[in-house]
Amino acid sequence: MSSHVRQKPVFRFAPSPNGRLHLGHALSAILNHDMAAASAGRFLLRIEDIDLARCTPEFERCIYDDLAWLGLSWEHSVRRQSEHFDEYRLALQRLIDAELAYPAFMSRSEIKAFVRQYEVDGKVWPRDPDGAPLYPPIDKERPAAQIAQLLSSGAQHAWRLDMAKTVGRVERSLHWHEGGSGAETFVEADPTAWGDIVLSRPDAPSSYHLSVVLDDALQSVTHVVRGMDLFAATSVHRLLQELLDLSAPQYHHHRLVLDEDGKKLSKSIGSTALEALRARGDTPSDIRRLLGV
Ligand code: GLU
Repeated sequence: MSSHVRQKPVFRFAPSPNGRLHLGHALSAILNHDMAAASAGRFLLRIEDIDLARCTPEFERCIYDDLAWLGLSWEHSVRRQSEHFDEYRLALQRLIDAELAYPAFMSRSEIKAFVRQYEVDGKVWPRDPDGAPLYPPIDKERPAAQIAQLLSSGAQHAWRLDMAKTVGRVERSLHWHEGGSGAETFVEADPTAWGDIVLSRPDAPSSYHLSVVLDDALQSVTHVVRGMDLFAATSVHRLLQELLDLSAPQYHHHRLVLDEDGKKLSKSIGSTALEALRARGDTPSDIRRLLGV
């Protein structure tokens, strides 16, 4: 007799407690919750609080409160990324040991100054899909002795992935399964568009990219349902999954909820905060109606 048991689909909603949840978060949370329910799957909540300077326990409490108000229930326990820095450090060390990561000493203002200088006579320094300048090659070109000296003098540094070297090590082309609503497709990953992505910062032992792929694999997430704003980042996630031998979930990047000017909502836009909608008397059904879900 076959003892094969089909693995239950696992969905997750992974907000960062650095502001109040707005309608865009509500759409993500509801879609994940409902897709899990429709497939007899699991719905997890993960608190992405690696940015210790901007995340607060108060915002975290508001997340639980807003989600419960929406009528959503999630599995306990909740994974809080700030409790797992050691795991992210180990993964970073693997990339350092494989000589795919290098210490990056330039501050934000030094990067800006580099770009300004480069563009002074009309040339354009490349930007990543989010519009940020690619990391300059200066640190990769430093002699080993200088790097050793900087490190031993305690110079502040991030760790970045050497994208060109890394892509050279990956033998096959990378794809991801994009599905969810309508046609299923395989999207070819293009991580090089991001340049040398950050893996850790002086003030945060892990970057979003590193912790998200580790946690999705650790939590056996089978379906990542999140906003279109993270579509391009999935290329980086596929690359890191390949490098760290992590499983790759399916992805569904859903439409974004836009403000009246057609811009993506941000946590600072008060009028679409769930808190403000509650205060004006909206019910959870009103929110679903507003979002069309
Ligand atoms: N923590 C991310 C955010 O709040 C979402 C990450 C993800 O769903 O992969 O935007």
